[in-house]
Amino acid sequence: MTNPLLETWDTPFGLPPFDRIADGDFAPAMEAALEEGRAAIAAIAENPEPASFANTVAALELADALLDRVAGVFYNLAGSTSNPVREGLQREFAPKLSAYSSEITNNAALFARIDDLWQRRDQLELTEEEERVLYLTHRSFARSGAALEGAARARLTEVKARLAVLGTEFTQNLLADERDWTMPLSEADLEGLPGFVIDAARAAGQEKGHEGPVVTLSRSLIVPFLQFSPRRDLRERAWRAWTARGRNGGATDNRAIAAEILTLREERARLLGYESFAAYKLETEMAGNPQAVRDLLMRVWEPARAQAMADAERLEAMLHEDGINGALEPWDWRYYSEKRRAAEHDLNEAELKPYFRLEAMIEAAFDCANRLFGLEFRPLDVALYHPDARAWEVTRKGAHVAVFIGDYFARGSKRSGAWCSAMRSQKKLGGDVRPIVVNVCNFAKGDPALLSYDDARTLFHEFGHALHQMLSDVTHGSISGTSVARDFVELPSQLYEHWLEVPEVLDRHARHAETGAPMPPALRDRLLAARTYDMGFQTVEYVASALVDLDFHDGPAPADPMAAEAETLARLGMPRAIGMRHATPHFAHVFAGDGYSSGYYSYMWSEVMDADAFDAFEEAGGPFDAETAARLEQFILSAGGSREADQLYTAFRGRMPGVEALLKGRGLDKAA
Ligand SMILES: [Zn+2]
Repeated sequence: MTNPLLETWDTPFGLPPFDRIADGDFAPAMEAALEEGRAAIAAIAENPEPASFANTVAALELADALLDRVAGVFYNLAGSTSNPVREGLQREFAPKLSAYSSEITNNAALFARIDDLWQRRDQLELTEEEERVLYLTHRSFARSGAALEGAARARLTEVKARLAVLGTEFTQNLLADERDWTMPLSEADLEGLPGFVIDAARAAGQEKGHEGPVVTLSRSLIVPFLQFSPRRDLRERAWRAWTARGRNGGATDNRAIAAEILTLREERARLLGYESFAAYKLETEMAGNPQAVRDLLMRVWEPARAQAMADAERLEAMLHEDGINGALEPWDWRYYSEKRRAAEHDLNEAELKPYFRLEAMIEAAFDCANRLFGLEFRPLDVALYHPDARAWEVTRKGAHVAVFIGDYFARGSKRSGAWCSAMRSQKKLGGDVRPIVVNVCNFAKGDPALLSYDDARTLFHEFGHALHQMLSDVTHGSISGTSVARDFVELPSQLYEHWLEVPEVLDRHARHAETGAPMPPALRDRLLAARTYDMGFQTVEYVASALVDLDFHDGPAPADPMAAEAETLARLGMPRAIGMRHATPHFAHVFAGDGYSSGYYSYMWSEVMDADAFDAFEEAGGPFDAETAARLEQFILSAGGSREADQLYTAFRGRMPGVEALLKGRGLDKAA
């Protein structure tokens, strides 16, 4: 019996033979891939020849060829089209893959070869890219503790294991608190709520086994409730419960866990020779060090706070006009802000939606890529993993560039959110490999399928990530496409969103689903004008969280994180009617794992660049300026992680970005 995952794929463009792969094929293929990987690693580590770039670093790049192929298929399917078997396989594979990666970084003979090459790098006559890959490989081993010995090494292993357990507990406690709270609504309580909120509350009630509608602590329900419910008492109750997640006392309280995590992170950083966890974490990011992050956040904080304070006055006046005395409270902000939005911007979703047909927005994303980079898209008739997924061949001047797969509709088997992944990454080492890139979204189906404006932005965002993969032009797979610093990776995606805001693009593609008429200019202008609405609030709640995250990790770990959080907010002069976007006991970005710890600022760091990068087009003559597009491709979209992010950006722009374009984009340039 043959396993299609282990065969050579004789398919168009080497696409996985989805129609022949069965779930039962994954586990044996994964075993075979790990075995092949182990054999390859052992051969490199035990090679009697002295270490060379080719027999060590390049060989390491190629060691996981089969694993990359099997995992590339499996994890795409597990995310977008799951089932109980695939969920079980995910649980089975996680510890195996993590053990495999520890085995590699703990392989002393292997690290000795890499370290030897690193010490001799000046005599090796490496290309610029090879030296970069050697540097990154050496750094990643060192950061995993490969250079530690004896007790320090044993302690690091202990600390990492304990941190993994604490991260899982933090997440599970949070889920439990979110699951356990509901607020039933009587028919009278529904007054003033729009239909879609009532529907969502009824659906939530049904799911929780209640007779009638309920409010839950899910962001997608509680936020619209806070926006629309005229019942101040209910808003207060909901807001208090929402912000108490993870600090309700008892078995699910996260405060002690947060304290222990911060202490262990500091110890981990010190074992590895760093003065703080933030210093360790930011070393590999574009920001480089905590001070650079703090400088950016504080530049944004002051004008955002000024704007928010001015807005608070307006909203408080509206509260008083409603006959309520006293101060504007956090449970009032969204409600009065929504009223003000309706009065000032007069935008309603129902009027906009017919102009954002999914097909037209896909066409718009392709058309912009054609005008900017000369890419062409041709639908492919190939077997994919789900009937809703579609494929296109991407070419330029007749030459093959990539296969792009778009999988746009929500379904029960898909996890929430939107993402871009490469089923196969671009590289040249060991053969010229062109990428297979997937965009997955969760748009509602319909005939025709209509998007909200936010959905359309998401489509452009993910397509920006896809361009970063598709235009990649590097030799080594480990630095291909989106393999860049976390605070740089959102640049191509957030930048691409700007083209959806170009009036000319809207005029060409945002046409009424039934009449085909372009969007009336007045509606278009109202849409574009509303973009910066309530940015003071949004910026303040985000930056406050980012600064608390940074303070936690920059310097000695606080014994009492809640007191430290309060201190940071007091120092900042946090407006009383705005809460943090994520407070410590439910700050999953920071405590559920390591991904965004002392890294919550990353979104804003990328935004500084995307705003400034789009300005480069405007300055050069317009959003489709050919020479600027060529530079964007040469220095950023094709370059992957081949150089440090600041070098890439400077090569593109001639200088590093200032914060001015971001402030302008958020409508905060005139505040403060
Ligand atoms: Zn993104």
